Amino acid sequence: MPSGDPRVQPSSDVPLAPLSTLGIGGRARWLARATSPEEVAAAHAWAADRGVPLFVLGSGSNLVIADEGFDGLVLRIALTGVAVAQAGADTLMTAAAGESWDAFVDSTVARGLAGVECLSGIPGTVGGTPIQNVGAYGQEVSHVIETLTAFDRHEQRMVRLAAAECGFSYRMSRFKQDDAGRFVVCGVTYRLRPGSPTITYPDVSDQLARDGIRMPEVRHVRDVVLAIRRRKGMVIDAADPDTRSVGSFFVNPLVSRATYDRIAAANPNTPVPSYVMQNGEVKIPAAWLIERSGFARGHADGRVGLSSKHPLALINRGGATARDVLGFAALIKREVIARFGVALRPEPVFVGLEHNPDVEFLARGG
Ligand SMILES: Cc1cc2nc3c(=O)[nH]c(=O)nc-3n(C[C@H](O)[C@H](O)[C@H](O)COP(=O)(O)OP(=O)(O)OC[C@H]3O[C@@H](n4cnc5c(N)ncnc54)[C@H](O)[C@@H]3O)c2cc1C
Repeated sequence: MPSGDPRVQPSSDVPLAPLSTLGIGGRARWLARATSPEEVAAAHAWAADRGVPLFVLGSGSNLVIADEGFDGLVLRIALTGVAVAQAGADTLMTAAAGESWDAFVDSTVARGLAGVECLSGIPGTVGGTPIQNVGAYGQEVSHVIETLTAFDRHEQRMVRLAAAECGFSYRMSRFKQDDAGRFVVCGVTYRLRPGSPTITYPDVSDQLARDGIRMPEVRHVRDVVLAIRRRKGMVIDAADPDTRSVGSFFVNPLVSRATYDRIAAANPNTPVPSYVMQNGEVKIPAAWLIERSGFARGHADGRVGLSSKHPLALINRGGATARDVLGFAALIKREVIARFGVALRPEPVFVGLEHNPDVEFLARGG
């Protein structure tokens, strides 16, 4: 029998487009908020009792939602609170999953703690960060996540997972792959320490040098990263149509040395930008591949296009549908394969789009 749990009071027929940064998507059949792990568990039981799917929503900054919407329960994560504990020289900061990620980063920087300063300006919630192992400018959350707590929908109980159990890799985790939909993250503990900021990207070091900052502190790096991201349309700004996106639509591909050499040999007059990973794979900027496949920044294709500030951001130019976005993304992927033989992997999560042929093509490897 369906439960009449008073902790779950879903609204019906709720538009999802305003809850996603792309501004696209149909309606949720039901939408509820969870402000505690108990409410998460109750929402899970509510959906299970009715035999309907449940989708966990953070801030909607990494989602392409179907025009038909989601025929199930969308659960907005609204758990709040931050706790701080000392562990020797380190500080353990635990934030509830519904906290704003950037507000949390700001609070770590205000304490002079290093570890997430390069992740300033990334939209979304704290609970969203482990899902794709959020990263930017030389830092990833997997470097500093100590543990997380989650409601395990298989076991129907709260669990604590250490970072080593999360299956983190470049822009990936078990939460996005093998165990997608299984865990509802309720809180994350980050191990941070006072000290020097991470400065590995030339964008960051060059800007610090231009600003005349010789001994940068974490707050300087936060300010510089925010300034760089704003120039690239990578900080959400309602007044900037270039930010009506999911950020980068494709992750930077990791290719073998042989593939890199083949691409470099075919482009003798242009140095191919690259970054050699610890395992010997070579990371090539997806933006470079896209621009050289005929899609310049600002490229328009009907109601969708590329940001005028960054060719990796597909934007809703106004009134776009998920179908428009997916068709354009598939076109880009096809052209990059034709030109370079590299299959780009999409970064966002697709909601209610399981049987969409463009999504199936986008998900396919090279
Ligand atoms: C302008 C812009 C710039 C961006 N820049 C970057 C960047 O530099 N680096 C980067 O890595 N990403 C970037 N992103 C992507 C995005 O901000 C991150 O992936 C963010 O962590 C998503 O968090 P969210 O709360 O919005 O999650 P949502 O978009 O709501 O959800 C994304 C996925 O996470 C799942 N999820 C969310 N919360 C939970 C939870 N509590 N428990 C279980 N599952 C959950 C959802 O079910 C979904 O599968 C950018 C996006 C935009 C729009």
